[in-house]
Amino acid sequence: MPSGERSTKQPFRSARNAVVASLLRAEQLSRSELSEITGVSPAAITEVTQVFLQRGLLAELPSLSTNGRRGRPIVQLQLQASHAYFAGISVGESAMPMVLTNLRGEVVAHHSLPACKTPTDMVKATSKAFQELLSASQIPRSRIHGIGITVSGIVDAEEGICRYSAALNWRDVPVAELLAKALRIPAWVDNDANAIAVGEKFFGRAREMEHFSSIVLGRTIGSAHYMHGTLYRGYTDSAGEIGHISVVPKGIPCRCGRSGCLDTVAGGFALRDAAKSAGLHIRTMRDLEEMALHGNTKAAKLLRNAGTCLGLAVASLVHLNNPQSVLFTDFEGFGNGVFRTATRQAIENNVMARFLGATQILFSDAERDLLPRSAASIAAFEYLNSL
Ligand SMILES: [Zn+2]
Repeated sequence: MPSGERSTKQPFRSARNAVVASLLRAEQLSRSELSEITGVSPAAITEVTQVFLQRGLLAELPSLSTNGRRGRPIVQLQLQASHAYFAGISVGESAMPMVLTNLRGEVVAHHSLPACKTPTDMVKATSKAFQELLSASQIPRSRIHGIGITVSGIVDAEEGICRYSAALNWRDVPVAELLAKALRIPAWVDNDANAIAVGEKFFGRAREMEHFSSIVLGRTIGSAHYMHGTLYRGYTDSAGEIGHISVVPKGIPCRCGRSGCLDTVAGGFALRDAAKSAGLHIRTMRDLEEMALHGNTKAAKLLRNAGTCLGLAVASLVHLNNPQSVLFTDFEGFGNGVFRTATRQAIENNVMARFLGATQILFSDAERDLLPRSAASIAAFEYLNSL
């Protein structure tokens, strides 16, 4: 079986997709509520919901409340989370978490695979883990409608190929095709930042949003942008390289071959190096924040500088794209401290007044399984778009 075909339709544009999107957001809705929310005619809603009911994607829940004087009960419709399941795996240099999720993006089974260096090892380990997940969850293979894979590096999502991953030392690996063949289900691959943005839209903080930016704070910094409800990929699939925006003229050399990039100031790798050079012994960013909290000026300065540079880059982003929200996902464990405060202040001090109240800035800690769960949401998203 070939790797999964990426849908060319505009996501959630058709009546069917609008219905699914609304039911993913709400616990349950009546047909008239669906028509009101989606702007789709009542007749089309009846038709679409009929098809979904026959397929088992929707269930009818009779309500006790009544509609009008005739006393006819209002039938509520609910998406059946168990109608379809998806696998998700995050491939990186350390352990590879893998999950199965239901149609609502809820994790139903989890597995942790040891790190794999070669693509062959990765495929072998994933196939074995997939079998184990199926037996542990008792979900029949026929209910798994695809797998999503995230790889840290440069990914050609359209072709399903990892073009380059420094962490894995991979070049031009057809990840989606390899896994689709081995697992006999459609497969899609994307980079971490894009997958997290899809996860935010599918089950996270951006379910109601059409325009938002997702910023991923890790060893390096990534970003992804939704515009008009669609992930913006750019002309050569390379949008979102916020980590390589120049923030310090003639600054520290960056792995991209240039110098003074945001990654060299605010990325986790860079902050660890800078702390070490300053004689600060830390294991995590939480340690650095603790030092700053207890009056260590070197630690405070590093964090403040990093946050300020990040905030300046994000302020430019706000001016360019006018997102409803900027959603930060913190894999480094900064917590609420100097770094986040400096980031927020730099954004607030550097955006025009009319963007101030109109742009939500939200930070959250990356929860366990966020990456594989986000990977699975790519498969779920493609499945729902293909209905
Ligand atoms: Zn760079």
